[in-house]
Amino acid sequence: MALQMLTAKDYRTEVHANWCAGCGDYGILNSIQLALAELQLPPHEIAVVSGIGCSGKSPHYVNAYGFHTLHGRALPSATGMKLANPGLTVLAVGGDGDGYGIGAGYFVNAGRRNVDLTYLVFDNEVYGLTKGQASPTLQRGEKRKSMSAPAIQDGINPLALAISSGYTFVGRGYALEPRRLARLIAEAVRHRGTSFIDILQTCPVYNEVHTKEWYAARTDKGSRLYWLDDTDYDPMVHDPSDPDEVVAKKVQAIGKSYEWGDRIPIGVLYAIDLPTYEDGLATGRPDYGNVPLINRDHTNRDVQPLIDALH
Ligand code: SF4
Repeated sequence: MALQMLTAKDYRTEVHANWCAGCGDYGILNSIQLALAELQLPPHEIAVVSGIGCSGKSPHYVNAYGFHTLHGRALPSATGMKLANPGLTVLAVGGDGDGYGIGAGYFVNAGRRNVDLTYLVFDNEVYGLTKGQASPTLQRGEKRKSMSAPAIQDGINPLALAISSGYTFVGRGYALEPRRLARLIAEAVRHRGTSFIDILQTCPVYNEVHTKEWYAARTDKGSRLYWLDDTDYDPMVHDPSDPDEVVAKKVQAIGKSYEWGDRIPIGVLYAIDLPTYEDGLATGRPDYGNVPLINRDHTNRDVQPLIDALH
């Protein structure tokens, strides 16, 4: 019997998505489902993990294992899941407030760890679920409709922070170009190591400045949003053992991440193949025959290899 190809529909659930009309989250959800179909991953081999916020509802809408965790805790939960069951494809999802505010420490440490998982941040510059307060990506001097005065502190640059934290795949996406965003997500999932995409997401309710019209506009320099893979930009480190190339590519990517305003780059900014955290675990530890944690016999355990390893 011929195998049935999975389509985006196979990753939908019957749970009604209750985001506001016109929310960019619908585009991102659609992109995730298209990406999973492109990758032909069986739903039982996928886990979607979220924190708190509008985007935190995403696991309810994807036909896969799901875990709606605590505020800012998507990454540590995703890390535990992946290490316990390396056979899972793990997607951590969340908002900019969730990931770069309360989850900032986890964000930095996930980058230097390099577990094989993908982190997607729905970045709308506000805390949408709690009525539009400034999030860590709102820049100094900017004001959104629920604020009484412009922000008096600087916003962070999540891409620059990710590159300097050690993420091995760093990209920027746009919510309202679902087919191209799907390809970018699929590329991130294929990457072996921690992949991160900051996705520019429209919030028509609380972000009346960076709207779909603003992102879609043409400026004197051309389309505001442009894809790096339509240019000669090369994000890849070709020789990870060459520190000069690594630094040069990081500097190039960080510079690119600061382009904003009239021209905003979309796509992969930085990528490098490095050993994962799982590779590190596999060395210098007792040999369990590569059996995932969830499949090991936890009642009749021989602890002698562990004692030997500690000697
Ligand atoms: Fe989307 Fe904004 Fe509504 Fe939240 S508040 S569901 S981010 S439009």
